[in-house]
Amino acid sequence: MSFRIKRKQLSIYNFYNKVIIHCPKCQKMAFIEKIKKNEESKNDLFSEEVLFCNNCGYNKKGTLLYNSELFELWLKTECNGKELWAFNEEHLKYLKDYVQAKLRERKKDKKTGWSNSSIDSRLPNWIKSSKNREKILKCIQKIEDLLKK
Ligand SMILES: [Zn+2]
Repeated sequence: MSFRIKRKQLSIYNFYNKVIIHCPKCQKMAFIEKIKKNEESKNDLFSEEVLFCNNCGYNKKGTLLYNSELFELWLKTECNGKELWAFNEEHLKYLKDYVQAKLRERKKDKKTGWSNSSIDSRLPNWIKSSKNREKILKCIQKIEDLLKK
């Protein structure tokens, strides 16, 4: 199973201010970060980034995420036969908050839930599905452990 970032996925989420990847050289944890850190560049796919690896010193500048098929995400796991992945801690927290909120409001009226919000519609159906929530939460915890390595 490939966990490479697809360009289509990039446009769905606005969390690519920082992306944790496997270093293309040494395979350890490396980062792609936006060079200009303001609100506009944060979600601008074409603003310049820098890739850096604290392990081997590899670094590279450019519009890297636009060619994101070249990089492999660090925060990923197989979950229920699907790919569960996140760009960074913030993105992972967003997923976790979503699944936990859904678990809490399980018994509430559907109309009062998040089911019509725009955030909700960005997520894949298998994450939104009520059947999988406990399982997905476990997968998210597994990904959280990857940050500690
Ligand atoms: Zn490296």
